[in-house]
Formats: sequence, C-alpha cells, structure tokens
Amino acid sequence: MNYDVIIVGCGFAGSILARKFAEDNKKVLIYEKRNHIGGNMYEEVLDNNLRVHKYGPHIFHTNNKEVFEFLNNYSDWYFYEHKVIGKIDNQLVPIPFNFKSLELLYDQKDAQKIKEKLLKIYPNEYKVSILDLINNNDKTIKEFGEFVYKNVFENYTAKQWNIPISEVDKSVINRVPVILGYDDRYFQDKYQYMPKEGYTKLFENLLNHQNITIKLSENALNDISINNNKIYWQNKEYKGIVIYTGEIDELFNYKFGPLPYRSLKLVFENYDMNYYQPSSVVNYPNEEEFTRITEFKYLTNELKDNQTTILKEYPQKYDYQDENSIPYYAIINEENINQYNKYFELTKDIPNLYMCGRLAEYKYYNMDAVIERALELYKKVSSSNEKNSKK
Ligand SMILES: Cc1cc2nc3c(=O)[nH]c(=O)nc-3n(C[C@H](O)[C@H](O)[C@H](O)COP(=O)(O)OP(=O)(O)OC[C@H]3O[C@@H](n4cnc5c(N)ncnc54)[C@H](O)[C@@H]3O)c2cc1C
Repeated sequence: MNYDVIIVGCGFAGSILARKFAEDNKKVLIYEKRNHIGGNMYEEVLDNNLRVHKYGPHIFHTNNKEVFEFLNNYSDWYFYEHKVIGKIDNQLVPIPFNFKSLELLYDQKDAQKIKEKLLKIYPNEYKVSILDLINNNDKTIKEFGEFVYKNVFENYTAKQWNIPISEVDKSVINRVPVILGYDDRYFQDKYQYMPKEGYTKLFENLLNHQNITIKLSENALNDISINNNKIYWQNKEYKGIVIYTGEIDELFNYKFGPLPYRSLKLVFENYDMNYYQPSSVVNYPNEEEFTRITEFKYLTNELKDNQTTILKEYPQKYDYQDENSIPYYAIINEENINQYNKYFELTKDIPNLYMCGRLAEYKYYNMDAVIERALELYKKVSSSNEKNSKK
C-alpha cells in the first residue's frame, strides 16, 4: 500500500493533521506506539463503569473560535467552568487566590483591611500578579503577597519541578495571580466545555475516515529512518509527507543527549461513596507528597451513586530509557531550548519532514494551542505541496 502522508503519533496534533489530509483525498497512515488513540487525552472506563482521563485531567478551554468550531464537528459538548480549591492551613480555599480565600485564611478585620488596600492600589484591575504584590511599597500588601507566595506557590513549584525555588524564572512567578474579587473560575476563556461523550469518542469520530489507516502498538521508528537528509520507510526512500509528533530526541537517536522532562506517577483510587471531595480538583501545595487530587465525576458529568474515582498526582523524574516512564512536561530553560534547537536544525534539511506537537516541538501546549498549531501546519504543508505539484 502506498501512503501520501505518514503521521507519527495519534494525539491531537497527529489526528487533526490526519483528518485534514484524508479530506484532501490523501491516503494517510498513522503510527501510535501506545495501544490506543487519543494521546494524552485518552479516557478509559474502569471496572466501576466510571470514565477517567488516563494521563491526568484534561479541561478544554479556549478563546479561539476557529478551534472550537472545528472540534464541534466531532463532538457535542456541555458547559463546564473549572474550579480549583487548595488545602492551605487545613482550610479548603479557592485557587487562584481570591477575596474568598483571603476571608477564609485571615481574621475578618485583617481581611477587610487587605481587600480595601488592594482595591485602592489596583483600581479597575481584575487580577494582580503575586510578584507585583511582593514588590509593593505598602507593608500590608507586601506581606500579603509573601503569604500567598509561600502558601500557594513556593512548595507546589518545588514539588512539581524538583528545583530550588531560587532557580524558578521570575516570569513564572509573575504569572501567578491574585483575583481582586470573588470570581472563583480557574480559567476565564470564552469557550469552556467538556466533550459530552468524552475525548476518546471525539478522537474516534475525528479518525473515522476511509483514507486513514492506524497502526496501534507500533513504534514508527521501527519502520522509519533518516539517512543523508532522506527519509526511509520500510527500507525504501519515502518522498511523501511525514508529520512527526513524537519526541524529537528519539527520532535522532538521542544524538545530542536526552531532552529533560518531568514525569508523574498517577495513582487512581476507587471509593464507595457519592463524592470524595467538594470540587473536581483540590491542590495540595504544601505538606502532602502529591500535588493534586482530581475527582473525575465532576469532569465527565457521570452521576453514578455510591461510586467515585479519584487520581493523585506525584511528580517524578523522567527516564527516557524506562519504557514505562512518560515525558509529561518539557523543562523549559535556556540550556534545554539550546539542546532542542540542535535537534531541530537537523530537520531543516529534510524537506518532507514536519514537526508538530508538544513532544516534537518541546513545548507546553494546551489542547487549544496544539489544535491551532496543527491546523496552521496543515495550511502551510498543503499550500507548499500544491505549489510544488504545479511546478
Ligand atoms: C498532566 C497534564 C494535564 C494536562 N491538562 C490539560 C488541560 O487541562 N487542558 C489543556 O488544554 N491541556 C492540557 N494538557 C496539555 C495536553 O495534554 C496537550 O496539549 C496535548 O497532549 C498535546 O497533544 P500532542 O498530540 O502534541 O501530544 P500527545 O497527546 O502526547 O500525543 C503524541 C502521541 O505520539 C505518540 N508517539 C510518540 N512517539 C512515537 C513513535 N515513535 N511512534 C509512534 N507513536 C509515537 C505518543 O505515544 C502519543 O500518543 C495537559 C498536559 C498534561 C501533561
């Protein structure tokens, strides 16, 4: 069988590109090394008949209308505004920190004083960064900023990334907000929805096209190799389009060393009760070893009595030589980006090879961002192919 396009990886990046090329009447082959479609968005049904997100909770939110309209072709949705609470000083308070969190953790008089000062110093602002608070000349505001930094950010970040807090880039701290009011939504995006029948069903619909063939449980690199800037597929030179959404360092046999990632140990627990916790996600920034607990019923809208499943996330080291270790979060810093760029340089002289997605581009992409990127790449590749075929 001849394929016009070969795609490595069946997450959003790979699946969307597959669908777009298939609709152009191109024969597409997808390789996926896991035994299922959907990449990290994959959901499975457990013995208690509850659906869970196998690779951690995924909440869809975007301001991009085109992205949401595209996904509407493959799923119905229900409105879902994500709310997170955090355990701080043995209290459950809204995260990001807002006026309600302040009232729960400070005595009434102090909370009132801080709220009034915040509104006076930052009039008409919806939120303010904790870095701004810490750098404020007003003693009360500065101490409040330090309180939030210490209780919400410092230990959580150290746990998540396993680095001393002094090494965390200031820009990261600058992105941690305090909400100047009572809005307790985690995201403020225009479109906040969850797929009615889940992500796996969405992927099944997306991939359901006569021009798409999927090989599951197959590492593409058993069939694909690169030599002298040419791609070989099943030992013959392949001149079609190759879209690669896997780890770029693996593609080049770790020539410049493995790119660093942070991984997670995910522990699912079932309970015979209606609900385990008051919200879909509770963050544990401080004492516990895990960073957060997710209760899936809130996300999947399944209202099963007396059964619930939760997930505890323990940040871990990633080991590229251990096939059970999963690269979850790229560790973005100057050194690692330089290392990534060396790999990326190698792709530039291979005209029919394209990198797309969180692993191939060594980036943190939210789902909406990776979908946007895949749609853009499709436009770019299909228009350059059209030009070539007209030459
Ligand atoms: C814990 C966690 C929570 C997240 N929560 C959210 C959220 O709430 N909202 C949000 O918008 N985003 C969230 N994200 C981001 C989201 O997961 C990414 O946007 C998405 O996974 C990117 O899709 P992708 O196709 O690039 O990668 P992936 O989904 O990882 O797909 C890549 C696929 O390629 C396969 N592959 C790799 N190499 C090969 C090979 N050699 N041969 C065959 N197959 C291969 C992999 O097995 C994988 O299935 C979260 C990410 C993490 C880690």
